[in-house]
Amino acid sequence: MPLAENAQLKAGDEIAAIGYETGLDAFSTFGTITDLQATHNSIPMVAVSAAVHYDNIGGPLITATGHVAGVNAFTPDDNPEQGLALSVASLRETLELYNPIKGTVAIRCPECRSLLVANETGNPDECPHCNAPVIFPSEVMEDDLSKPGVYEVMGKLVRGMWLNETDVKRGMDNWEIPVGCATTYIEYDYHKSGFVYAKGFLGRLPADPEKAAAVYQFLLEENEHQTPNSFLCVENRIYLANIRFMGEFYYGYIQPAYSALFRDADRYKALLKEKFDCTE
Ligand SMILES: [Zn+2]
Repeated sequence: MPLAENAQLKAGDEIAAIGYETGLDAFSTFGTITDLQATHNSIPMVAVSAAVHYDNIGGPLITATGHVAGVNAFTPDDNPEQGLALSVASLRETLELYNPIKGTVAIRCPECRSLLVANETGNPDECPHCNAPVIFPSEVMEDDLSKPGVYEVMGKLVRGMWLNETDVKRGMDNWEIPVGCATTYIEYDYHKSGFVYAKGFLGRLPADPEKAAAVYQFLLEENEHQTPNSFLCVENRIYLANIRFMGEFYYGYIQPAYSALFRDADRYKALLKEKFDCTE
């Protein structure tokens, strides 16, 4: 893919942040360049109005003419509307440094930007030029694979909602999230199935079979508008639910899906009570 020249880029240019999440189809988010002079830890970045998350991190930021404008990096916690990508100028500079030793594991020092090469007798844990602490990618990957990501994603979600993590945790693998008049119960079945079940409690079916049938009919019709969540009845209890496998529990999916679940659980609970007299 051709690299864009920094001088050709300007704020307002349309971009797509593309990624290939393992085993899945290409995933893209779209937006425009908002800031070409952004930095993160003094590394030059491009800020864009497109989400950058698990599905497209590490992928290219592409311009409308098919040029690479950067490498998708992350979305800052304090600004979820913004995505950051490593600038193409920084990418080009790194490629020039790396090309002569292509194939070996190397990183750039976060402080002095020197290129550091992995060592057969053990990777350095600090930069030999400036003594800044460094972590090689092979070590980062082992660490990431060894810990389940569900807890991290849930932590980020809870903090993003300005809730206190200890207030909403009910044991190691359970959370209770109150939004409006509804509460959503989240259970991570880590040991058996690996599924994460989220269920917003909406009330109980009326005892009268005719009234209960009317509620069923209503929920079936409403289900059409509910993606990725769906209504679920367990005995006489009505839930709005989301079931997701731990290996696909990405913040980029969970954040919008659960936000819709919390919001709709609140809305439908009030509506079911008003319309069909469904109570707790
Ligand atoms: Zn250094």
